[in-house]
Amino acid sequence: MSNLFESKVLSIHHWTDRQFSFTCTRDPGFRFQSGQFTMIGLVVDGKPLLRAYSVVSPHWDETLEFLSIKVQDGPLTSRLQHIKVGDTVMVGRKASGTLLTQNLLPGKNLYLLSTGTGLAPFMAMIRDPEVYELYEKVILVHGCRQVAELAYDQVITQELPKNEYFGDQVTGKLVYYPTVTREAFRNQGRIPTLLETGKLSHDVGLPPLSKEDDRFMLCGSPEMLRDTRTLFDKLGMTEGNMSHPGHFVIERAFVDK
Ligand SMILES: Cc1cc2nc3c(=O)[nH]c(=O)nc-3n(C[C@H](O)[C@H](O)[C@H](O)COP(=O)(O)OP(=O)(O)OC[C@H]3O[C@@H](n4cnc5c(N)ncnc54)[C@H](O)[C@@H]3O)c2cc1C
Repeated sequence: MSNLFESKVLSIHHWTDRQFSFTCTRDPGFRFQSGQFTMIGLVVDGKPLLRAYSVVSPHWDETLEFLSIKVQDGPLTSRLQHIKVGDTVMVGRKASGTLLTQNLLPGKNLYLLSTGTGLAPFMAMIRDPEVYELYEKVILVHGCRQVAELAYDQVITQELPKNEYFGDQVTGKLVYYPTVTREAFRNQGRIPTLLETGKLSHDVGLPPLSKEDDRFMLCGSPEMLRDTRTLFDKLGMTEGNMSHPGHFVIERAFVDK
């Protein structure tokens, strides 16, 4: 069996001139855990041109969704941004990634810290009822330059609380904290600064960051990951992985070349 399957595009949404998302069919044999990534792409000159993408959909969803950047001279996304309903995208059968609750020590509060398309894996996690079983509060932070880049904000605030299966868990446990850096908005500033100054925990009504109670998943730009990790190191927190659960886990939202 090939390590890729063909998937038909079902819908497309352009959020801004830098970001779009699309849904596509899921091969019934494709298994993944909420928060994992896989390779996706297009056939170009007879060969698959693939890139890593976090799956926006939770593991139980019948279809697949991806949130994508548009890099105008990017080999894949200069093409992918022009896909139409009915087109075929290639999806890798092997999902992987570190953003899994089993890589974290037990805790009370789960902070999901993202910038840009780094929101993608956390859209899966906040629709996974198992995540709410493990934590008292789930705090989703999404940092962007501009308000228009806060993809899925309406889904998070309007649709999820009404979900017939996990709406009550969302209402009782999910705290959504969008923040922007380049225009006026109710929350402003970079994630590492909001954490370090205590503004984030204050604004969401939680105690100051604590090694005992708080766990973190990070997915975003290299700068956000670097500065947040420096802060966690100062607080004596450790990075978790498959063999040693820790206080935080990290996934890159992209690799700067
Ligand atoms: C584990 C992992 C998960 C990823 N998940 C996603 C995802 O869910 N959605 C997504 O859009 N991309 C994701 N990426 C990035 C993705 O693999 C590609 O880099 C992206 O699709 C651009 O492909 P490209 O061929 O057009 O350009 P590339 O040649 O791959 O990238 C060109 C340059 O564009 C910039 N860039 C690439 N991706 C992004 C991005 N997402 N945000 C901001 N700048 C970027 C970087 O500076 C990069 O050097 C992920 C990367 C990794 C390693």
